Amino acid sequence: MSDATGLAEAMLGLEGFTVVAVREDPSELVISVESTAVVVGCGVCGVRAQAQDRVTIDVRDLACFGRPTRLVWRKRRWRCREERCAVKTWTEESPAALARQLITWRAGLEACRQVGELARPVSTVAAELGVSWWTVMHAVIEHGTRLVDDPARVGPVTQIGVDETSFLAANRDRHTVYVSTIVDLERHVVVDVFDGNSAADLRKWVGRADPNWVAGVEVVATDLTESYRAGLKPDLAHVTVVADPFHVVRVANRCLDKIRRRVQNETLGHRGRKADPLFKIRKLMLAGAERLDEKGTERMLLGLRAGDPDDEVLGGWLAKESVRDVYLTGDRAEAEVLLDKVIAGCAVDEVAEIRSLGGTLARWRTEILAYHDTGASNGPTEGLNLGVKKVKRCGHGFRRFDHYRLRVLLHTGGIDWPARPRPPHIRTRRPPHSFA
Ligand SMILES: [Zn+2]
Repeated sequence: MSDATGLAEAMLGLEGFTVVAVREDPSELVISVESTAVVVGCGVCGVRAQAQDRVTIDVRDLACFGRPTRLVWRKRRWRCREERCAVKTWTEESPAALARQLITWRAGLEACRQVGELARPVSTVAAELGVSWWTVMHAVIEHGTRLVDDPARVGPVTQIGVDETSFLAANRDRHTVYVSTIVDLERHVVVDVFDGNSAADLRKWVGRADPNWVAGVEVVATDLTESYRAGLKPDLAHVTVVADPFHVVRVANRCLDKIRRRVQNETLGHRGRKADPLFKIRKLMLAGAERLDEKGTERMLLGLRAGDPDDEVLGGWLAKESVRDVYLTGDRAEAEVLLDKVIAGCAVDEVAEIRSLGGTLARWRTEILAYHDTGASNGPTEGLNLGVKKVKRCGHGFRRFDHYRLRVLLHTGGIDWPARPRPPHIRTRRPPHSFA
């Protein structure tokens, strides 16, 4: 290809269009295009149409060589020559640049991929294309909704995890707003995100899901909140509920922290400060005992000796470690013995926080042991949480839940993004040998 028109068309890469002119402005590249259609029939009567005149529309396309690009499409207006036909005139159309759209179809899809798959901020993508924030967001909604709603995205799932995340932090006018995430524990993709974290919210979500899909779910891993457990009924009453190991250990960690803060306050009369013995060892105590070396263990014991006169914090630490022990064995019978020992020990403890921990463990005994039958845990989905956080960060605090949901699902929902052919690598040429 060597003629100028052919070269320009190859660079444009839009089928059915020919380049009429290219103009360089300091801020953008302006490409005037026309469609190549010359013979057109009337859509109603079929009679060959007559070209009447042209109207010009401006639309943004993919940035070209680093510059925002404007396509100026000189649209042809056709007229039906059949006098008895109801149609008088019409303007040509193209799927590449739909009517009343500010950007081309391909630029919209790319904007959606940038914001969704790569979790880039809408404002950055908008600046690159040379359009407004809303134009990009509309493109993300238009292309993204189709990808997210595709039933093939999720497919049948046997193990799911339900977890809450804070969506909006509390301020003067509201409590923290929570959303819940449903995760496919086997494929490690986010199935959906819904508003709220109550039993009614979960029930509503399950009620709206495809009954066949719901019937196929066998295992649900949750944190230790009654709301999710209650929300599984009635539609998910058939599943095995697993108390997620990470959350079980977290309950024990929180119990330990609570005791430490109380004892700190009682012995020193203030909240933890840098130099306080218990405050200094708070992280050592939360680490697993097997991860502490001799020096670490010694530091921890010294801190306890100095700041824990009645061995209450030590009791909390021992309880936390016994909870962790339940997960060190792969044997279900052994786990049952270990768990029952923790529950019995906690029940008679002098420390109120430890008794309360024992109560929680007793209420979730079946679900805690179910881990040893199913192996289901939200643990391997940590990577997904990172993805969700990335979306949250780049959104600078979402106001609208529907936008948040869409972007989380585009980023972590297992979208099958249209494949892009890989070009061959360009290698550096070896420098020529020089012989003196
Ligand atoms: Zn006609």
